[in-house]
Amino acid sequence: MVSGRTDIAELELTELEDAVSELGVERFHARQIYRWVYRRGLERFDGMTDLSVALRRQLEAALMLTTPQIAARDQSSDGTEKFLFRLADQRTIESVFIPDTPAQTFCVSTQVGCAMGCGFCLTGQMGLVRNLTAGEIAGQVRVLARELELQDRRFNVVLMGMGEPLHNYGATMKALRMLATPSGLALTPRRVTLSTIGMVPALKRLAREPWLPNLAVSLHATTDAARHELIQTSRKQRLADLVAACRSFPLKHRDRITFEYVLLDGVNDTEADAHRLVTLLRGLRAKVNLIPLNEAPGIPFSRPPDLHVDRFARILASGKVIVSVRKSRGRDIRAACGQLIVEGGPRQSPGQQAAQMVNG
Ligand code: SAH
Ligand code: SF4
Repeated sequence: MVSGRTDIAELELTELEDAVSELGVERFHARQIYRWVYRRGLERFDGMTDLSVALRRQLEAALMLTTPQIAARDQSSDGTEKFLFRLADQRTIESVFIPDTPAQTFCVSTQVGCAMGCGFCLTGQMGLVRNLTAGEIAGQVRVLARELELQDRRFNVVLMGMGEPLHNYGATMKALRMLATPSGLALTPRRVTLSTIGMVPALKRLAREPWLPNLAVSLHATTDAARHELIQTSRKQRLADLVAACRSFPLKHRDRITFEYVLLDGVNDTEADAHRLVTLLRGLRAKVNLIPLNEAPGIPFSRPPDLHVDRFARILASGKVIVSVRKSRGRDIRAACGQLIVEGGPRQSPGQQAAQMVNG
Protein backbone atom coordinates (compact mmCIF):
# COMPACT_ATOMS: atom_id res chain seq x y z
CA MET A 1 0.00 0.00 0.00
CA VAL A 2 2.60 2.50 -1.17
CA SER A 3 0.01 5.20 -1.78
CA GLY A 4 -1.35 4.93 1.76
CA ARG A 5 -4.77 4.15 0.32
CA THR A 6 -6.72 1.25 1.83
CA ASP A 7 -7.10 -1.67 -0.59
CA ILE A 8 -10.77 -2.59 -0.54
CA ALA A 9 -10.06 -5.88 -2.33
CA GLU A 10 -8.97 -7.14 1.09
CA LEU A 11 -12.09 -6.03 2.96
CA GLU A 12 -15.16 -7.92 4.05
CA LEU A 13 -18.38 -5.92 3.85
CA THR A 14 -18.32 -4.89 7.53
CA GLU A 15 -14.71 -3.72 7.15
CA LEU A 16 -15.65 -1.74 4.05
CA GLU A 17 -18.52 -0.17 5.97
CA ASP A 18 -16.04 0.88 8.66
CA ALA A 19 -13.61 2.20 6.04
CA VAL A 20 -16.19 4.40 4.30
CA SER A 21 -17.61 5.54 7.60
CA GLU A 22 -14.14 6.73 8.64
CA LEU A 23 -14.22 8.94 5.54
CA GLY A 24 -17.48 10.44 6.74
CA VAL A 25 -19.44 8.48 4.10
CA GLU A 26 -22.72 6.74 4.96
CA ARG A 27 -22.20 3.03 5.67
CA PHE A 28 -24.89 1.86 3.23
CA HIS A 29 -22.71 2.97 0.31
CA ALA A 30 -20.43 0.04 1.12
CA ARG A 31 -23.08 -2.38 -0.14
CA GLN A 32 -23.36 -0.47 -3.41
CA ILE A 33 -19.60 -0.62 -3.84
CA TYR A 34 -19.54 -4.35 -3.06
CA ARG A 35 -22.17 -4.89 -5.72
CA TRP A 36 -20.19 -2.99 -8.33
CA VAL A 37 -16.98 -4.81 -7.52
CA TYR A 38 -18.33 -8.37 -7.25
CA ARG A 39 -21.50 -8.38 -9.35
CA ARG A 40 -20.32 -6.05 -12.09
CA GLY A 41 -16.58 -6.67 -11.96
CA LEU A 42 -15.57 -3.00 -11.84
CA GLU A 43 -11.96 -2.25 -10.98
CA ARG A 44 -12.36 1.51 -10.48
CA PHE A 45 -14.72 3.79 -8.65
CA ASP A 46 -15.47 6.05 -11.60
CA GLY A 47 -17.94 3.62 -13.18
CA MET A 48 -20.07 3.32 -10.03
CA THR A 49 -22.86 5.39 -11.46
CA ASP A 50 -25.26 5.23 -8.52
CA LEU A 51 -22.72 7.13 -6.42
CA SER A 52 -22.40 10.88 -6.90
CA VAL A 53 -19.43 12.11 -8.89
CA ALA A 54 -18.09 13.89 -5.80
CA LEU A 55 -18.33 10.69 -3.77
CA ARG A 56 -16.57 8.66 -6.48
CA ARG A 57 -13.73 11.17 -6.47
CA GLN A 58 -13.49 11.05 -2.70
CA LEU A 59 -13.36 7.25 -2.73
CA GLU A 60 -10.78 7.19 -5.52
CA ALA A 61 -8.52 9.47 -3.46
CA ALA A 62 -8.76 7.48 -0.25
CA LEU A 63 -9.22 3.88 -1.38
CA MET A 64 -7.81 1.53 -3.97
CA LEU A 65 -8.90 -1.80 -5.47
CA THR A 66 -6.27 -4.32 -6.50
CA THR A 67 -7.45 -6.89 -9.02
CA PRO A 68 -5.47 -9.84 -10.45
CA GLN A 69 -4.76 -9.08 -14.10
CA ILE A 70 -5.24 -11.64 -16.86
CA ALA A 71 -1.84 -12.27 -18.43
CA ALA A 72 -2.93 -15.15 -20.65
CA ARG A 73 -6.00 -17.17 -21.44
CA ASP A 74 -6.01 -20.62 -23.06
CA GLN A 75 -8.94 -22.69 -24.16
CA SER A 76 -8.85 -26.48 -24.30
CA SER A 77 -10.59 -28.50 -26.99
CA ASP A 78 -12.99 -29.74 -24.27
CA GLY A 79 -14.05 -26.19 -23.32
CA THR A 80 -11.90 -25.95 -20.21
CA GLU A 81 -10.31 -22.55 -20.00
CA LYS A 82 -7.14 -21.65 -18.15
CA PHE A 83 -6.45 -18.13 -16.89
CA LEU A 84 -2.95 -17.00 -16.00
CA PHE A 85 -3.18 -14.14 -13.52
CA ARG A 86 -0.50 -11.61 -12.72
CA LEU A 87 -0.57 -10.31 -9.17
CA ALA A 88 0.55 -6.91 -7.91
CA ASP A 89 4.06 -8.21 -7.10
CA GLN A 90 4.36 -9.83 -10.57
CA ARG A 91 3.96 -13.36 -9.25
CA THR A 92 1.60 -15.46 -11.31
CA ILE A 93 -1.06 -18.00 -10.47
CA GLU A 94 -3.61 -19.90 -12.47
CA SER A 95 -7.31 -20.51 -12.28
CA VAL A 96 -9.33 -22.85 -14.45
CA PHE A 97 -12.89 -22.65 -15.70
CA ILE A 98 -14.49 -26.05 -16.18
CA PRO A 99 -17.84 -25.77 -17.96
CA ASP A 100 -20.86 -28.03 -17.71
CA THR A 101 -19.81 -30.79 -15.33
CA PRO A 102 -22.89 -30.32 -15.13
CA ALA A 103 -22.31 -27.07 -13.23
CA GLN A 104 -20.04 -24.23 -14.24
CA THR A 105 -16.98 -24.56 -12.02
CA PHE A 106 -14.09 -22.26 -11.15
CA CYS A 107 -10.95 -23.92 -9.83
CA VAL A 108 -8.89 -21.34 -7.92
CA SER A 109 -5.50 -21.13 -6.21
CA THR A 110 -4.81 -20.31 -2.57
CA GLN A 111 -0.99 -20.07 -2.61
CA VAL A 112 1.84 -19.45 -5.05
CA GLY A 113 3.42 -22.92 -4.93
CA CYS A 114 2.81 -25.29 -2.03
CA ALA A 115 4.77 -26.50 0.97
CA MET A 116 3.18 -29.93 1.30
CA GLY A 117 5.60 -31.78 -0.96
CA CYS A 118 3.44 -34.36 -2.74
CA GLY A 119 5.80 -36.24 -5.03
CA PHE A 120 3.32 -36.47 -7.90
CA CYS A 121 2.38 -32.77 -8.02
CA LEU A 122 4.32 -30.12 -9.92
CA THR A 123 3.02 -27.35 -7.67
CA GLY A 124 4.53 -29.25 -4.76
CA GLN A 125 7.89 -29.29 -6.49
CA MET A 126 7.91 -25.48 -6.51
CA GLY A 127 7.81 -25.33 -2.73
CA LEU A 128 5.89 -22.47 -1.16
CA VAL A 129 6.61 -19.09 -2.75
CA ARG A 130 4.01 -17.18 -0.77
CA ASN A 131 0.45 -17.23 0.51
CA LEU A 132 -2.22 -15.47 -1.48
CA THR A 133 -4.17 -12.75 0.29
CA ALA A 134 -7.93 -13.06 0.75
CA GLY A 135 -8.35 -10.42 -1.95
CA GLU A 136 -6.21 -12.40 -4.40
CA ILE A 137 -8.19 -15.59 -3.76
CA ALA A 138 -11.57 -13.86 -4.08
CA GLY A 139 -10.19 -11.74 -6.95
CA GLN A 140 -9.76 -14.82 -9.17
CA VAL A 141 -13.48 -15.57 -8.77
CA ARG A 142 -14.41 -11.93 -9.28
CA VAL A 143 -12.56 -11.75 -12.60
CA LEU A 144 -13.64 -15.18 -13.85
CA ALA A 145 -17.30 -14.41 -13.12
CA ARG A 146 -17.00 -11.17 -15.06
CA GLU A 147 -15.07 -12.58 -18.02
CA LEU A 148 -17.38 -15.55 -18.38
CA GLU A 149 -20.49 -13.44 -17.75
CA LEU A 150 -21.61 -15.66 -14.90
CA GLN A 151 -22.06 -12.97 -12.25
CA ASP A 152 -25.81 -13.39 -12.19
CA ARG A 153 -25.79 -17.14 -12.70
CA ARG A 154 -24.90 -20.07 -10.50
CA PHE A 155 -21.41 -21.46 -10.47
CA ASN A 156 -19.30 -23.64 -8.20
CA VAL A 157 -15.91 -22.84 -6.74
CA VAL A 158 -13.36 -25.54 -5.97
CA LEU A 159 -10.22 -24.70 -4.02
CA MET A 160 -8.15 -27.18 -6.01
CA GLY A 161 -5.69 -24.93 -7.79
CA MET A 162 -2.18 -24.18 -6.64
CA GLY A 163 -1.61 -24.43 -2.93
CA GLU A 164 -2.97 -25.98 0.23
CA PRO A 165 -5.98 -23.96 1.45
CA LEU A 166 -5.68 -25.05 5.09
CA HIS A 167 -2.04 -23.94 5.12
CA ASN A 168 -3.34 -20.44 4.31
CA TYR A 169 -6.32 -20.75 6.60
CA GLY A 170 -7.19 -17.17 7.53
CA ALA A 171 -7.00 -15.76 4.00
CA THR A 172 -8.94 -18.69 2.54
CA MET A 173 -11.81 -18.40 5.00
CA LYS A 174 -11.92 -14.64 4.65
CA ALA A 175 -12.07 -14.94 0.86
CA LEU A 176 -15.02 -17.32 1.21
CA ARG A 177 -16.83 -14.85 3.48
CA MET A 178 -16.21 -12.10 0.93
CA LEU A 179 -17.59 -14.26 -1.89
CA ALA A 180 -20.61 -15.22 0.21
CA THR A 181 -21.67 -11.60 0.78
CA PRO A 182 -25.29 -11.24 -0.42
CA SER A 183 -24.72 -7.88 -2.12
CA GLY A 184 -21.75 -9.44 -3.91
CA LEU A 185 -21.66 -12.86 -5.57
CA ALA A 186 -23.71 -14.49 -2.78
CA LEU A 187 -21.94 -17.81 -3.02
CA THR A 188 -23.51 -20.51 -0.83
CA PRO A 189 -21.46 -23.15 1.06
CA ARG A 190 -22.99 -25.92 -1.02
CA ARG A 191 -21.36 -24.44 -4.11
CA VAL A 192 -17.86 -24.43 -2.65
CA THR A 193 -15.49 -27.37 -2.19
CA LEU A 194 -12.31 -27.08 -0.20
CA SER A 195 -9.74 -29.70 -1.17
CA THR A 196 -7.05 -30.39 1.39
CA ILE A 197 -4.23 -32.73 2.16
CA GLY A 198 -5.90 -32.81 5.60
CA MET A 199 -3.85 -31.38 8.43
CA VAL A 200 -5.71 -32.60 11.52
CA PRO A 201 -5.56 -29.42 13.71
CA ALA A 202 -6.73 -27.26 10.79
CA LEU A 203 -9.51 -29.73 9.99
CA LYS A 204 -10.73 -29.49 13.59
CA ARG A 205 -10.71 -25.72 13.30
CA LEU A 206 -12.58 -25.87 10.01
CA ALA A 207 -15.20 -28.11 11.61
CA ARG A 208 -16.16 -25.20 13.90
CA GLU A 209 -16.67 -22.66 11.08
CA PRO A 210 -20.19 -21.30 10.71
CA TRP A 211 -19.81 -21.11 6.91
CA LEU A 212 -18.77 -24.61 6.02
CA PRO A 213 -17.82 -25.57 2.46
CA ASN A 214 -17.96 -29.13 1.15
CA LEU A 215 -14.86 -31.04 2.13
CA ALA A 216 -12.57 -33.06 -0.14
CA VAL A 217 -9.64 -34.81 1.52
CA SER A 218 -6.66 -35.91 -0.56
CA LEU A 219 -5.87 -39.36 0.83
CA HIS A 220 -3.76 -41.10 -1.85
CA ALA A 221 -2.59 -43.98 0.33
CA THR A 222 -3.92 -46.66 2.64
CA THR A 223 -0.96 -47.19 4.96
CA ASP A 224 1.03 -44.66 6.96
CA ALA A 225 4.29 -45.76 5.35
CA ALA A 226 2.97 -45.25 1.82
CA ARG A 227 1.39 -41.89 2.65
CA HIS A 228 4.56 -40.65 4.31
CA GLU A 229 6.48 -41.64 1.23
CA LEU A 230 4.12 -39.80 -1.15
CA ILE A 231 3.42 -36.68 0.92
CA GLN A 232 6.49 -35.33 2.70
CA THR A 233 4.63 -33.25 5.25
CA SER A 234 2.30 -36.06 6.29
CA ARG A 235 5.15 -37.70 8.19
CA LYS A 236 4.04 -36.38 11.55
CA GLN A 237 0.48 -37.47 11.00
CA ARG A 238 -1.19 -40.85 11.22
CA LEU A 239 -3.87 -41.92 8.76
CA ALA A 240 -5.98 -43.15 11.67
CA ASP A 241 -6.00 -39.63 13.17
CA LEU A 242 -6.91 -38.07 9.83
CA VAL A 243 -9.78 -40.50 9.31
CA ALA A 244 -10.94 -39.90 12.91
CA ALA A 245 -11.00 -36.13 12.27
CA CYS A 246 -13.09 -36.81 9.17
CA ARG A 247 -15.45 -38.99 11.17
CA SER A 248 -16.20 -36.13 13.55
CA PHE A 249 -16.48 -33.53 10.79
CA PRO A 250 -20.01 -32.05 10.83
CA LEU A 251 -22.04 -33.06 7.79
CA LYS A 252 -25.48 -31.91 6.87
CA HIS A 253 -28.18 -34.39 5.98
CA ARG A 254 -27.07 -36.55 3.03
CA ASP A 255 -23.72 -34.79 2.61
CA ARG A 256 -20.54 -36.80 2.23
CA ILE A 257 -16.84 -36.13 2.46
CA THR A 258 -15.06 -36.70 -0.83
CA PHE A 259 -11.79 -38.61 -0.60
CA GLU A 260 -9.49 -37.91 -3.51
CA TYR A 261 -7.10 -40.67 -4.43
CA VAL A 262 -4.51 -40.10 -7.15
CA LEU A 263 -3.77 -43.49 -8.73
CA LEU A 264 -0.08 -44.13 -9.40
CA ASP A 265 0.87 -47.17 -11.40
CA GLY A 266 2.24 -49.95 -9.21
CA VAL A 267 2.44 -47.67 -6.16
CA ASN A 268 -1.02 -47.29 -4.63
CA ASP A 269 -3.29 -48.96 -7.18
CA THR A 270 -3.13 -52.58 -6.06
CA GLU A 271 -6.06 -54.78 -5.09
CA ALA A 272 -4.76 -54.79 -1.52
CA ASP A 273 -4.89 -50.98 -1.49
CA ALA A 274 -8.47 -50.98 -2.70
CA HIS A 275 -9.51 -53.46 0.02
CA ARG A 276 -7.68 -51.45 2.69
CA LEU A 277 -9.44 -48.29 1.50
CA VAL A 278 -12.82 -49.97 1.93
CA THR A 279 -11.87 -50.89 5.51
CA LEU A 280 -10.46 -47.45 6.28
CA LEU A 281 -13.63 -45.67 5.19
CA ARG A 282 -16.09 -48.11 6.75
CA GLY A 283 -18.93 -46.29 8.49
CA LEU A 284 -17.87 -42.91 7.12
CA ARG A 285 -20.22 -40.87 4.97
CA ALA A 286 -17.73 -40.85 2.16
CA LYS A 287 -17.38 -40.94 -1.57
CA VAL A 288 -14.14 -41.64 -3.33
CA ASN A 289 -12.92 -39.75 -6.35
CA LEU A 290 -10.21 -41.70 -8.15
CA ILE A 291 -7.83 -39.51 -10.14
CA PRO A 292 -5.58 -41.43 -12.55
CA LEU A 293 -2.29 -39.52 -12.46
CA ASN A 294 -1.85 -36.71 -14.94
CA GLU A 295 1.66 -37.32 -16.08
CA ALA A 296 4.14 -34.52 -16.69
CA PRO A 297 7.88 -34.27 -17.17
CA GLY A 298 9.46 -34.21 -13.73
CA ILE A 299 6.82 -36.36 -12.07
CA PRO A 300 8.48 -39.69 -11.20
CA PHE A 301 5.30 -41.77 -11.44
CA SER A 302 3.10 -43.07 -14.21
CA ARG A 303 -0.59 -43.29 -14.84
CA PRO A 304 -1.99 -46.79 -14.31
CA PRO A 305 -3.63 -48.59 -17.23
CA ASP A 306 -7.42 -48.18 -17.39
CA LEU A 307 -7.78 -51.82 -16.43
CA HIS A 308 -6.21 -51.15 -13.02
CA VAL A 309 -8.33 -48.06 -12.50
CA ASP A 310 -11.38 -50.13 -13.28
CA ARG A 311 -10.33 -52.95 -10.96
CA PHE A 312 -9.74 -50.47 -8.12
CA ALA A 313 -13.12 -48.82 -8.65
CA ARG A 314 -14.94 -52.16 -8.74
CA ILE A 315 -13.45 -53.32 -5.45
CA LEU A 316 -14.56 -50.07 -3.81
CA ALA A 317 -18.03 -50.36 -5.29
CA SER A 318 -18.40 -53.96 -4.14
CA GLY A 319 -17.35 -52.78 -0.67
CA LYS A 320 -20.33 -50.35 -0.80
CA VAL A 321 -18.14 -47.28 -1.23
CA ILE A 322 -19.50 -44.66 -3.61
CA VAL A 323 -16.83 -44.16 -6.22
CA SER A 324 -16.22 -42.04 -9.30
CA VAL A 325 -13.28 -41.74 -11.63
CA ARG A 326 -12.26 -38.19 -12.40
CA LYS A 327 -12.28 -37.42 -16.05
CA SER A 328 -9.27 -35.32 -16.68
CA ARG A 329 -10.09 -32.10 -18.47
CA GLY A 330 -7.87 -29.55 -20.11
CA ARG A 331 -4.84 -31.82 -20.44
CA ASP A 332 -4.01 -30.40 -23.88
CA ILE A 333 -3.40 -26.97 -22.31
CA ARG A 334 -1.80 -28.42 -19.18
CA ALA A 335 -4.73 -27.30 -17.06
CA ALA A 336 -5.33 -30.68 -15.45
CA CYS A 337 -4.73 -31.60 -11.82
CA GLY A 338 -1.14 -31.34 -10.72
CA GLN A 339 0.10 -29.85 -13.98
CA LEU A 340 0.64 -26.44 -12.54
CA ILE A 341 4.12 -25.15 -12.23
CA VAL A 342 5.70 -21.76 -12.41
CA GLU A 343 8.31 -21.85 -15.10
CA GLY A 344 11.15 -19.42 -14.52
CA GLY A 345 10.75 -17.97 -11.00
CA PRO A 346 9.95 -14.29 -10.63
CA ARG A 347 13.35 -13.61 -9.10
CA GLN A 348 15.09 -14.62 -12.31
CA SER A 349 12.68 -13.36 -14.90
CA PRO A 350 9.78 -11.25 -13.79
CA GLY A 351 7.05 -11.20 -16.37
CA GLN A 352 8.20 -14.38 -18.02
CA GLN A 353 6.45 -16.86 -15.85
CA ALA A 354 3.92 -19.27 -17.01
CA ALA A 355 1.95 -21.42 -14.70
CA GLN A 356 0.20 -24.59 -15.49
CA MET A 357 -2.44 -25.99 -13.39
CA VAL A 358 -4.86 -28.18 -12.05
CA ASN A 359 -8.38 -29.34 -12.08
CA GLY A 360 -10.53 -32.32 -12.44
N1 SAH B 1 -3.59 -28.90 -1.98
C1 SAH B 1 -4.91 -29.36 -2.08
C2 SAH B 1 -5.68 -28.77 -3.24
C3 SAH B 1 -4.92 -28.60 -4.52
S1 SAH B 1 -4.44 -30.07 -5.34
C4 SAH B 1 -4.94 -30.88 -2.15
O1 SAH B 1 -3.90 -31.49 -2.34
O2 SAH B 1 -6.01 -31.44 -1.97
C5 SAH B 1 -5.99 -30.63 -5.99
C6 SAH B 1 -6.02 -32.11 -6.33
O3 SAH B 1 -5.15 -32.38 -7.43
C7 SAH B 1 -5.57 -32.99 -5.19
O4 SAH B 1 -6.47 -34.03 -4.93
C8 SAH B 1 -4.26 -33.52 -5.72
O5 SAH B 1 -3.94 -34.75 -5.17
C9 SAH B 1 -4.52 -33.60 -7.20
N2 SAH B 1 -3.27 -33.75 -7.96
C10 SAH B 1 -2.08 -33.19 -7.72
N3 SAH B 1 -1.17 -33.57 -8.65
C11 SAH B 1 -1.80 -34.40 -9.51
C12 SAH B 1 -1.42 -35.10 -10.70
N4 SAH B 1 -0.19 -35.02 -11.18
N5 SAH B 1 -2.35 -35.84 -11.31
C13 SAH B 1 -3.61 -35.92 -10.85
N6 SAH B 1 -4.03 -35.27 -9.74
C14 SAH B 1 -3.15 -34.52 -9.08
FE1 SF4 C 1 0.20 -29.10 -2.46
FE2 SF4 C 1 -2.11 -30.28 -3.13
FE3 SF4 C 1 0.05 -30.36 -4.79
FE4 SF4 C 1 0.08 -31.76 -2.54
S1 SF4 C 1 -1.32 -32.06 -4.26
S2 SF4 C 1 1.75 -30.47 -3.29
S3 SF4 C 1 -1.03 -30.43 -1.15
S4 SF4 C 1 -1.11 -28.57 -4.20
